[in-house]
Amino acid sequence: MSKQKRQITIIGAGLTGALLGVLLGKRGYRVDLVERRPRQNKNSSDSGRSINLALSQRGIDALDAAGMMEAVRPILIPMKGRMLHLDTGRTEFSAYGHRPDEVIYSVSRRALNRLLVRKALEAPDVAVVFDQQLTDVNFAAATITLEDQTNRQISTKPFGLLIGADGAGSKVRRCLMEHTGGKSSSDFLEHNYKELEIPAGQGGSWQIEKEALHIWPRGDFMLIALPNLNGSFTATLFLPKQGNPGFSSLVDRETVNEFFETVFPSAKAVMPDLIEDFFTNPAGRLGTVRCTPWHDVDRCLIIGDAAHAIVPFHGQGMNCAFEDCSVLEELLNKFDDNWSHVAKAFSQTRKPDADAIADMAIENYTTMRETVTDPKYGLKKQVGFELERRMPDQYIPRYSMVMFHRMPYSEALRKGEIQKQVLDEITRSIDSPDDIDWDAAIAIVKRHLR
Ligand SMILES: Cc1cc2nc3c(=O)[nH]c(=O)nc-3n(C[C@H](O)[C@H](O)[C@H](O)COP(=O)(O)OP(=O)(O)OC[C@H]3O[C@@H](n4cnc5c(N)ncnc54)[C@H](O)[C@@H]3O)c2cc1C
Repeated sequence: MSKQKRQITIIGAGLTGALLGVLLGKRGYRVDLVERRPRQNKNSSDSGRSINLALSQRGIDALDAAGMMEAVRPILIPMKGRMLHLDTGRTEFSAYGHRPDEVIYSVSRRALNRLLVRKALEAPDVAVVFDQQLTDVNFAAATITLEDQTNRQISTKPFGLLIGADGAGSKVRRCLMEHTGGKSSSDFLEHNYKELEIPAGQGGSWQIEKEALHIWPRGDFMLIALPNLNGSFTATLFLPKQGNPGFSSLVDRETVNEFFETVFPSAKAVMPDLIEDFFTNPAGRLGTVRCTPWHDVDRCLIIGDAAHAIVPFHGQGMNCAFEDCSVLEELLNKFDDNWSHVAKAFSQTRKPDADAIADMAIENYTTMRETVTDPKYGLKKQVGFELERRMPDQYIPRYSMVMFHRMPYSEALRKGEIQKQVLDEITRSIDSPDDIDWDAAIAIVKRHLR
């Protein structure tokens, strides 16, 4: 079968499935995207999902390669750094990078998804069916079973190659594990999340600094907020499920009011619908999915959250999934669309990177809610930026390696561990970058990173 004519069924027209549809459609494949949700319209709601997301370099590179950036740029809001709302009431801005282009972008999940689906449909051989849920895969017969979400009718369809882009709870993953005897684990944090809203101010203005990712770090928990184009912010509360404070103790308007008044007074002041939002919006779980294998010869592959869902604290789930699409495209070029080579190489190269970003994302939860308030953290960050300025070929802070560069996540993790030792050694007995002997500091970097 020629590569142009091979039929590919992608389960899930979310962010990953839709971008993959764009890329494979451009390569001349016949692609059927199958999505269980109804087609998006103006009134459909996003409740229960993160409404906006932080887009960074890996995601931008993939969108660029798909010819999407011109359409996406107008819906992006740059976030130049973290705006910390400390428990003293003071705010403190901390830039993400030291170069002006080292920013991340807030983007609406729904708007981005809609653009991607629209773009995928521009290819002559790409089709999307909504309202159809995959319920089973028969690998021997190469067929899938779908259930219509409106009339519950069951249908069976053949597939050439099946790609599971059906998210963290992937049905394709479960079928693939069963078929191959593979292993899969889902580890959930003891913390849940809930989305709330900071509405726009007068005339659609932003009530707090627009170009920042806001964090109210409070040790064991935190509130964050990302800007939206309409002047509002989507805030997310990350809190233990049990205990006090914990979701289990926030049971009525009095307890919620008192909790926010005590720990997040500045946020509460700009959240007039806090109580209604709190009791209307669902609490979501935060988990890491690891599994192996990710493919079955050249017949089935899983990608994005379906293969490696991670917790959101590095803002990398979507970016990593988009990078999956870039890697897959590079491998299709390399192996001339021979899917048995591509699928095998994809699993081999990508799995260590997915494991690495999963670990860094969990670690970053502690950084965001706690470590950012430690003066030593600020000092190390300044020293890291200065080292990068002085020796850009050898030293890049780990956060920047993950967010602003396309080096493998596993390499960022490995180098980051070494750099941690470097920073510990340089800052052990000082309180300010002014106290540093830079020649000695550079010698330390060279010794560790040789
Ligand atoms: C609170 C929160 C904040 C986040 N913030 C960020 C961030 O700032 N930056 C970032 O990069 N990432 C972030 N993420 C992660 C990001 O949301 C995911 O990594 C991303 O959505 C993965 O895309 P996906 O297409 O692989 O999966 P999904 O977005 O889950 O899409 C899967 C699609 O498959 C469909 N589907 C599922 N099952 C079936 C089935 N059986 N049949 C048919 N269709 C099916 C679903 O309806 C959905 O449309 C965040 C996640 C959370 C929870």
